[in-house]
Amino acid sequence: MDVSHLLDALNPAQREAVSAPAGHLLVLAGAGSGKTRVLTHRIAWLIEVERVPPWAILAVTFTNKAAGEMRGRLDALLAGRTQGLSVGTFHGIAHRLLRRHWQEARLPQMFQILDADDQQRLVKRVISGLGLDEARHPPRQATWQINAWKDEGRRPDMLEDRGHPQTRAQIDIYRAYEEACRRAGLVDFAELLLRAHELMLEQPALLAHYRERWRQLLIDEFQDTNTLQYAWIRVLAGNTGQVFAVGDDDQAIYGWRGARVENVQHFLRDFPGARTLRLEQNYRSTATILKAANALIAHNGSRLGKQLWTAGADGARIALYAAYNELDEARHVVQRIAEHLDGGGRADDCAILYRSNAQSRVFEEQLMQQRIGYRVYGGLRFFERAEIRDALAYLRLAANPNDDAAFERAVNTPPRGLGERTLDTLRTHARAARVAMWQAASLLLADKSALSARAGNALRGFMELIQRIAASAPDASGGLTLAEHVAQMLALSELRAFYEKDSRGNAESRVENLDELISVAARFEPGPEDVEAGLGVLASFLGHAALEAGEAQGEAGQDCVQLMTLHAAKGLEFSIVFLVGLEEGLFPSQKSLDEDGRLEEERRLAYVGLTRARQRLLLSYAESRRLHGTEMLARPSRFLAELPAALIDEVRPRVQVSRPLYAPARAHAVEEETDLPALRLGQRVRHAQFGEGVVTAAEGGGAHTRVQINFAQAGSKWLVLAYARLEAC
Ligand code: ATP
Ligand code: MG
Repeated sequence: MDVSHLLDALNPAQREAVSAPAGHLLVLAGAGSGKTRVLTHRIAWLIEVERVPPWAILAVTFTNKAAGEMRGRLDALLAGRTQGLSVGTFHGIAHRLLRRHWQEARLPQMFQILDADDQQRLVKRVISGLGLDEARHPPRQATWQINAWKDEGRRPDMLEDRGHPQTRAQIDIYRAYEEACRRAGLVDFAELLLRAHELMLEQPALLAHYRERWRQLLIDEFQDTNTLQYAWIRVLAGNTGQVFAVGDDDQAIYGWRGARVENVQHFLRDFPGARTLRLEQNYRSTATILKAANALIAHNGSRLGKQLWTAGADGARIALYAAYNELDEARHVVQRIAEHLDGGGRADDCAILYRSNAQSRVFEEQLMQQRIGYRVYGGLRFFERAEIRDALAYLRLAANPNDDAAFERAVNTPPRGLGERTLDTLRTHARAARVAMWQAASLLLADKSALSARAGNALRGFMELIQRIAASAPDASGGLTLAEHVAQMLALSELRAFYEKDSRGNAESRVENLDELISVAARFEPGPEDVEAGLGVLASFLGHAALEAGEAQGEAGQDCVQLMTLHAAKGLEFSIVFLVGLEEGLFPSQKSLDEDGRLEEERRLAYVGLTRARQRLLLSYAESRRLHGTEMLARPSRFLAELPAALIDEVRPRVQVSRPLYAPARAHAVEEETDLPALRLGQRVRHAQFGEGVVTAAEGGGAHTRVQINFAQAGSKWLVLAYARLEAC
């Protein structure tokens, strides 16, 4: 058999991993060494050489996007022979298991997924329902705690308060929250995993079935698995399954969310006979970029230690831009991107990576101004927008009337005269009778004296509306399509009309988004795994909306600049990377500076950022930055000082003044291409908008040089020299 296409494009260590004999294997290797490639080829090898049927293979990726890419590559490698193969995230896989075995998991058939935002709202209602003070028990923190417990596999009954009243209250909130979820048929993200794990433990026959089925388990980004995910792998593997895990301890960046890098070490202990293999050659980045990344990560104390080398060229030095403020930073970055495009380059070669989602806005504005297409990963994504969530709430409630989160959202959007008092009566009733809001509403309506006539009518009208929407749901007997159902819902619920009349900002784009939801529904096709799990089109659509909300927005496949957080960039690569906002307090984040032991994780995040770049890496920081509404003055990030100076070119505008306004700080100061005029104090200049004036003062240096000009008409102004486009006259 000719298997050369599976091994040719690999080095000897990679081949060894791909063609390893039976047994557990851990591939521990640095960024860009081909771990994901090895994992993909391993699957192809198992199918083609070891004759493992595709349905016996379960591959776990960190994002849905990565799952899609892996499936695409496998289809190419195996000429489409991937029928029955399971590829997905832990959450996606758990979701499908629960859908398929909802009865065994003691869930209602149409259970809905509670996303992070709705979860926090529900926790908030639970806290007030318990009569607890929100100031003492902030919903955000309570939600975090519940998720942390779930990630550890702990239910309220397994927790002890050890006499701490605060912990006692936390446990009470957790218990009441669980009860609220149960009544409403809701499952949050952490619950998906926990339920799926318990399902396996409590149903021996089911466990035996899946152990028999998935004999090959492959896990990418293994360093970021949490306790529960690790336990899940162990349970599924049992004594017969083989585990192939790839990871890099230097890229463990989700510790704050419960991931346990220790799992890498536990692996050898917990999986008998497991071997470790290392890959040391990096294929992604230039030698310069790799050297910088290696130097940075060497500052971390706790490492398993790895060598990475490349046979590639040195490549260009790393550019460093010291911006005056966040706007200057964005202009500079977008300017460089524009130059790349002018030179015939592609937009999707370029990625802008930042620490926090809030940083994206300035870049978006500049890109828009320059008419450069872009795509933001993370941030407020399509399925997370308010109007879309409203629409989804109607679909969910129609599918499962017990979904309290959806009930709360839909009941008064658009407003239908149901006051807070009526809703409170409903909530209290639901809690007392331990039923969902919907059932409580039915009970209250049956009792003539419970509600005022007006409230009663409004409530009855709402429930009839939901039933009418439910009647138009797509079903097996060839009723409406999903898109028709969505359109029907938008019309019946009057959501579209409501947003059309909405006088608040961007009403138009809200209506456009609602219309887009119809298109999204029309394009939607359940994935092969969903079909196999027997999910109807509506259930898989709602699952998709909840689980994939986090990933991308904008049209796929267009050539555009990619914007995302460093966390979201894990596993990806781009020719040109702009790593921005390298300031103390932002990156490393203030939190990581305040809390012990967090700085190393932050440095690993920087390592992830640097190693995303293939050819060019451009770093920047701003001396002053307006973020979350306040202006901060910041020092450059310590991570910059940890990079070898010889690898860095500091980019500065070419400013020539009659007396030096600044002294270049580094050996490799180079000049930016922008032509800036040579200026003297007292010189006459012309500005496109303000007219003629005289230079009266100058301050700052480099990109930050500001000049004061006394304009004949416009008066005295301070301008940033690099952008003022002054002409001498
Ligand atoms: P990360 O740690 O960032 O997830 P990784 O170890 O998973 O990285 P890959 O993404 O699999 O690395 O590979 C990095 C790049 O190197 C990819 O573009 C991949 O196609 C390429 N590559 C890997 N191995 C080889 C090889 N033997 N020959 C040529 N290119 C390779
Ligand atoms: Mg990878």
